[in-house]
Amino acid sequence: MKGDPKDLGFSTRAIHAGQPPDPVTGAVTVPIYQTATYIHDELGKHKGYEYSRVQNPTREALEANVASLEGGIGGHAFASGMAAISTLLTMVRSGEHVVASSNVYGGTYRLFSQVLERYGLSFTWVDATRLEAVEEAMTDKTRLVFIETPTNPMMEVTDIAGAAEIAHKREALLAVDNTFMSPRFQRPLEHGADVVVHSTTKFLNGHSDSLGGVLISSRPEDAEWFAFVQKSAGGMLSPFDSFLVLRGLKTLGVRMDRHETNGRSVAEFLSSHPKVERVLYPGLPDHPGHEIHQRQASGFGALITFDVGSFAAAKAVLDRLEVMSLGESLGGVETLISHPASMTHASVPPEERAKIGIGDGLVRVSVGIEDLDDLLGDLGQALESI
Ligand SMILES: *Cc1c(COP(=O)(O)O)cnc(C)c1O
Repeated sequence: MKGDPKDLGFSTRAIHAGQPPDPVTGAVTVPIYQTATYIHDELGKHKGYEYSRVQNPTREALEANVASLEGGIGGHAFASGMAAISTLLTMVRSGEHVVASSNVYGGTYRLFSQVLERYGLSFTWVDATRLEAVEEAMTDKTRLVFIETPTNPMMEVTDIAGAAEIAHKREALLAVDNTFMSPRFQRPLEHGADVVVHSTTKFLNGHSDSLGGVLISSRPEDAEWFAFVQKSAGGMLSPFDSFLVLRGLKTLGVRMDRHETNGRSVAEFLSSHPKVERVLYPGLPDHPGHEIHQRQASGFGALITFDVGSFAAAKAVLDRLEVMSLGESLGGVETLISHPASMTHASVPPEERAKIGIGDGLVRVSVGIEDLDDLLGDLGQALESI
């Protein structure tokens, strides 16, 4: 494929965008340019590559690819999702303010509240499902609104277009952590967001064998700044990991479609099970964010949170599962199940956890792409142990 025509379909771009055949050999796959530096032809003349912190062809192919999938003008890849989010926050200067959704990823909460507050950034945590709360928190110093939708693990949905409008009215920017949906199902830039963040560790790479993060920008000045911080702070993604994520992206379309069918079926199974008190999944018609989510996304994904009532019941289920693996993380081909209060959200203080509804009976599952019957059978036998 030559260039990157916007009118090609999602999976065609996932396989081809930013990845012309290798000009030297014709290799169909972008090679892993495992090199630290590049030879200059003569003094003052090189091929556009000087040093791999600044430019690397494998990383550039990945960056062009994700930019195409999210509909952005530029992408920048980092060593983890948190490294990408740290770089994003360098847009905010000392004395400036950020409005953030109170239900964000635990590591994001830790970075903002325990690291960045030391540098004079201030944060107001709001229930972003209520746009009035976002609006009320805005001040003259607000530079950035940061949301995740749906959130982890409460699956709360924020109206992206509404949040963008509020941010822009006060000359702030909207950043959306789109890790849970992937661009297959949700493209926040199309709804007015300015920057999209991903932990590529999750669905984009999809195979639980690499950590990474990307920022996708819609404004040239932001793309330039992220490139500048990437080279200055040095948190970029390695050539090998860039290769792995590119490889994962080629099957993003088919994987997400299978995650979606399995996810919906598991959510329905859980919501009709007598031992399950509550199921949080935006695909269920009684989910409070169902309609907004349907407006801004084309799928519901594979993340489901359910409540079995107590720590003891959650432990009984988790210890009994055989096909589903107990572990942090999400978005891989294998089903992973976790206990947010003691695992992913252990760094959120108990009072804060209670406020956002993360009780001890909550279990969060990232439904993989295994055979559905095996997943339902496994959950069924484990729930019997309560
Ligand atoms: C995992 C995750 C992150 C952090 O990404 P890492 O790659 O683990 O650093 C950020 N946001 C969300 C929603 C995540 O799930």
